[in-house]
Amino acid sequence: MSAPNPPSPTAAQRVQPRPDVVAMEGYHSPQVSVRVRLNTNESPFPPPAKWQAQLAAEVSRIEFHRYPDRAAWNLRVAIGELHGVGPEWVFAANGSNEVIQTVCLTYGGPGRTAAVFEPTYAMHRHIAQTSGARVVDGARGVDFSVSEAEVDRVIDEAHPEIIFLCSPNNPTGGLAAPELVRHTLAATTGLVFVDEAYGQFASWSAQSLLDDNSPIVVSRTYSKTWSMAAVRLGYLLAPPWMVAEFDKVVLPYHLDSLKQAAGTLALGYADEMAARVEQLVAQRERVDAGLRSLAVDVWPSSANFILFRPRAVDANLVWQRLVDRSVLVRNCSSWPGLAGCLRVTIGTADENDAFLDALEASLDGALIDSSEIP
Ligand SMILES: *Cc1c(COP(=O)(O)O)cnc(C)c1O
Repeated sequence: MSAPNPPSPTAAQRVQPRPDVVAMEGYHSPQVSVRVRLNTNESPFPPPAKWQAQLAAEVSRIEFHRYPDRAAWNLRVAIGELHGVGPEWVFAANGSNEVIQTVCLTYGGPGRTAAVFEPTYAMHRHIAQTSGARVVDGARGVDFSVSEAEVDRVIDEAHPEIIFLCSPNNPTGGLAAPELVRHTLAATTGLVFVDEAYGQFASWSAQSLLDDNSPIVVSRTYSKTWSMAAVRLGYLLAPPWMVAEFDKVVLPYHLDSLKQAAGTLALGYADEMAARVEQLVAQRERVDAGLRSLAVDVWPSSANFILFRPRAVDANLVWQRLVDRSVLVRNCSSWPGLAGCLRVTIGTADENDAFLDALEASLDGALIDSSEIP
């Protein structure tokens, strides 16, 4: 009698992803249904009603049986005008995450290295790794700033092709100082990617360093300031010789006609957007002051969110208590270098009040031994 056949492997066992993909973790940001959503740094305001009406009229003119304008030229011209550069300095994509991906596919990939300074935006590491690049870590100081000495150490040891700086940095809120970005540009043989997803909330932009002979990329998004997270549109400004390489790598017709129209029309509302930014900055100062009156540590922010750390109650417990009060913030306490930390997005005045009240209640009682804080 012959031995029974071993069970045949399932398709999932036979078809294996790349080993580096098997080792990866996906994107975790729970989408919980609550009344006050302050977890993903979107704008609390919908876009202007006039923009919505204009877009609806524009949609009726789209030739849906035709591919979109492959170069997204009108959009590039409009973005370039906003920033005082020509369209050949602009590359747009499906969210600044696709901008990051295109840069990583073009200048990263197998055999190459990208550098990040933790704690920072997790997608820089994730997307660089997905491209096949090695990722090396730089450290931030206790105030979460990056020092020139640390930049030099990373460059000397790893010679990265891409250095990510995030200004203001998500989730810690601080700016990369102009001197630091200049120093990094002068010290590296690779490119410097300055992620300015929150640039409009800050007092300084690395745009001022754009130069045809400088390997700098500055990225922006419509998801935060422009109240258009649902559209998925972001862009970068970079020297034209770099933009030409990105155009080769990105998929043809990657920006659909709807998105191109939405993004171009939105730029006609720059004044409305600037007014919203002003409101949010005023609210940020109010939330900052509110937090400082509670038993939490607070880091100063140049963005539309604030990082804080409950002093005596476990952050996971505070996060859950906030959810129980229908307020959702981002739990960063398991992120590298952020033990015990939570991040709150600045919302409307009502949402911020609801957050501060819920937080005060969540910090009440139930003091735990601080040695239990992870
Ligand atoms: C939100 C965010 C992005 C992502 O922007 P999308 O345009 O929505 O893809 C990029 N970088 C940072 C630092 C962010 O916080």
